[in-house]
Amino acid sequence: MKSLGIDIGGTFLKYIYKENNQFTTGKIYTRDIISEGNPDLIIKEIKNIVEKFKPESIGIAVAGLVDKKTGRITNSPNIKSLDGYPLKENLEKIINIPVYIENDASLAAYGEYMYGAGKNSKILICLTLGTGLGGGAVINGKILSGVSGSAMEIGHTIIQLNGLPCHCGRKGCLEAYVSSYGLERIYYLLTDKKLSSSEIISLANEGNKLAMESLEKFSEYLAIGLMNITHIFNPDKILIAGGIPEYYPALRDITVANLKKLTFPLPFRDLSIENAALREFSGAYGALAYGEKGGKD
Ligand SMILES: [Zn+2]
Repeated sequence: MKSLGIDIGGTFLKYIYKENNQFTTGKIYTRDIISEGNPDLIIKEIKNIVEKFKPESIGIAVAGLVDKKTGRITNSPNIKSLDGYPLKENLEKIINIPVYIENDASLAAYGEYMYGAGKNSKILICLTLGTGLGGGAVINGKILSGVSGSAMEIGHTIIQLNGLPCHCGRKGCLEAYVSSYGLERIYYLLTDKKLSSSEIISLANEGNKLAMESLEKFSEYLAIGLMNITHIFNPDKILIAGGIPEYYPALRDITVANLKKLTFPLPFRDLSIENAALREFSGAYGALAYGEKGGKD
């Protein structure tokens, strides 16, 4: 079978093509075309990839909520032009094969379950720590997407009453602390200096005390989120994915230690926390597998 998985993000469109168990990955810079605000330009990029590979199945991961009933995308803060856009319908008109779309964080969890660090997990949770904080769950091999398609919005669970403002408009969301902008704020509150999250991580990797302290604080918030997840789901595995754990791998050990202090010992005993394995391609791998199964996971 020739299959294609695509992950549409705010900066890059990533894809994986599979034929005879050989994988080809690719990445297209899309920030400029996305900022033009015309979703047809994204469709054109996808059409080019489809014409090149001629796949028999297509799965697509998108940042945002995917309405199970209409197939439309809503609440896509990083790709505003896709808000309310009938991506499935419009793509299928052009490329003549069925297209299956799911939320990117759910498909990142599914990608790790099928091909990465989540294989054989019974209750798998995957958190993607990037620009925002995404969450996905795969339970007994099935994506937990919810009735409407909006389950696992862990980033927008509140951990602090009247806390820091979140990009969603609420206050005190987990994402307001545990995301790249969360890390930048934590560092700013500690030092009065504005640095980007990648600068803070480089400093921490060089042994800079205040940068390390910021990541320690960041980990404490992350551990609160993980405690909530653990107490609700009692999972066997939680994966942390995204740029922050990738470039600061020490985050995992610090967070496990913080989590141990917070969580009931019983679910902690049976839980393992690992860094995700597929790096920036987890979502595309998940989309590939989801498309192959005709959106049935
Ligand atoms: Zn929020």
